Amino acid sequence: MTSASCEKWIKQSAHAMRVTPLGVWEAPRRLAVRRHCNVLVCGAGPAGLGAALAAADQGAEVVLVERWAMPGGMWTAGLVNPFFEDTKRGYIVRELINRLEAADSWRIWCGNYCFDPEIMKLTLEQMLRERNVHVLYYSQAVDAIVEKGRVCGAVVESKAGREAILADVVIDATGDGDIAARAGCEFAYGSPVDGFVQPMTLMFEIRDIHGFRQRDSRGLYDRLAAALAERGSDFELPFPRYNAAPYVITLPCDTAGAVQATHVYRVNPLDPAELTAGTMTTREQAHQLMSLLKTLPEFADSRITNTAASMGLRESRRVTGLYRIGVEDLAEGRRFDDAVCCVHFGVDIHHGPGQDKSGHGTKMRPYEIPYRCLVPRDVRGMLLAGRCISGDHFAHASYRVTGSMMATGQAAGFAAARCAAQGIDPAEFDGTQLHAELAARNCGFLAR
Ligand SMILES: Cc1cc2nc3c(=O)[nH]c(=O)nc-3n(C[C@H](O)[C@H](O)[C@H](O)COP(=O)(O)OP(=O)(O)OC[C@H]3O[C@@H](n4cnc5c(N)ncnc54)[C@H](O)[C@@H]3O)c2cc1C
Repeated sequence: MTSASCEKWIKQSAHAMRVTPLGVWEAPRRLAVRRHCNVLVCGAGPAGLGAALAAADQGAEVVLVERWAMPGGMWTAGLVNPFFEDTKRGYIVRELINRLEAADSWRIWCGNYCFDPEIMKLTLEQMLRERNVHVLYYSQAVDAIVEKGRVCGAVVESKAGREAILADVVIDATGDGDIAARAGCEFAYGSPVDGFVQPMTLMFEIRDIHGFRQRDSRGLYDRLAAALAERGSDFELPFPRYNAAPYVITLPCDTAGAVQATHVYRVNPLDPAELTAGTMTTREQAHQLMSLLKTLPEFADSRITNTAASMGLRESRRVTGLYRIGVEDLAEGRRFDDAVCCVHFGVDIHHGPGQDKSGHGTKMRPYEIPYRCLVPRDVRGMLLAGRCISGDHFAHASYRVTGSMMATGQAAGFAAARCAAQGIDPAEFDGTQLHAELAARNCGFLAR
């Protein structure tokens, strides 16, 4: 299309479209700027929240854009519990846990801690409001605004239409690396063995559980398998017998639980048709599993109260950064001068029938994630936080848990605010200085 024909289009209508055999051509359009800010955070999961809260604490004006009507990402819309990696993950994780504890919504479960997802939503919103973070729910970040290789904002779509939000620094905390991908960043996807990302799980909540305590998944697997054999149904348990599922995670009120059991394999999280089919399949699995659970005395009175608002996505795009944390770093337990977070959680890959099993439980030692994994290689003006940071499939299966993801967010938010104040690019920011600042803010690192 020539610039003259563009001009003609603009004059005719701001929203002109032309349908051709090659696809639909959209006319250029002027976007209203909803807001200018110092730091724009896309996605309000554990990572985006860590980023928004930390940036606000550093004096930045922060906008947090989220497509759902709640903060928390997988913690809330995904009904994921328990909270892994809860100690020495930074002052924001600490503050959150203190508040959940004070609200009687933080309880030990199976050697970890579980929380009440409703109180989690309320607590996170209180923390955001106290810091004057401008939160926009019902708003999906759909594109990056890139000028001369620098990301200077994002296009956001909502009922108000298509609008621009401009920022000194943009943080992609969408889990899927949506904005980095739109900005043209290279990313990796899936396992190097079969090319698939980890399977998905639709979590569900049940009530009226009596006297159930879980130690590992195998005991419950065997009881469900026996119940299934007795019933003679053609329903198959959607996971193999290893320590990944099923789990009934009893929540702080004891008689309610979050169930981690449904699984769909080889589904692409970036394709809405595949996601939709996967969601329907797992919802059906949830109800089949419930009817099986009801044959066990502890669940005889139980019923499903809620399937999660969002499919549980373990893995998606992994954006290429200035450093890529890999399985070799885990094997060595590597330390970095610019470390932003230390990870202890093992390599947890949920393999399905006929899938490669070699990665699960890969030998690792506690290791650190460097700031450079948060800095995308291919654009300026942007930072990554959470699931989409730069790492390989195996390392991702270890660092992806929520406490560590919030810690990457805290680091990205802190760095973004400082970059905005100093007028520098995230790639120029001194990671060793950041490391020292984080160490002073309840982030535990490995001994030097
Ligand atoms: C089934 C399952 C069980 C798990 N179990 C545990 C566990 O027991 N303990 C644990 O600690 N971790 C667990 N995890 C891992 C953990 O939940 C995730 O890795 C973690 O939540 C990642 O945090 P995040 O902020 O990067 O992404 P997410 O939690 O996925 O949050 C991303 C947020 O961004 C929003 N978003 C996405 N795209 C856009 C867009 N374009 N515009 C605006 N908003 C957008 C989403 O709506 C969401 O709120 C589990 C994960 C799954 C799927």
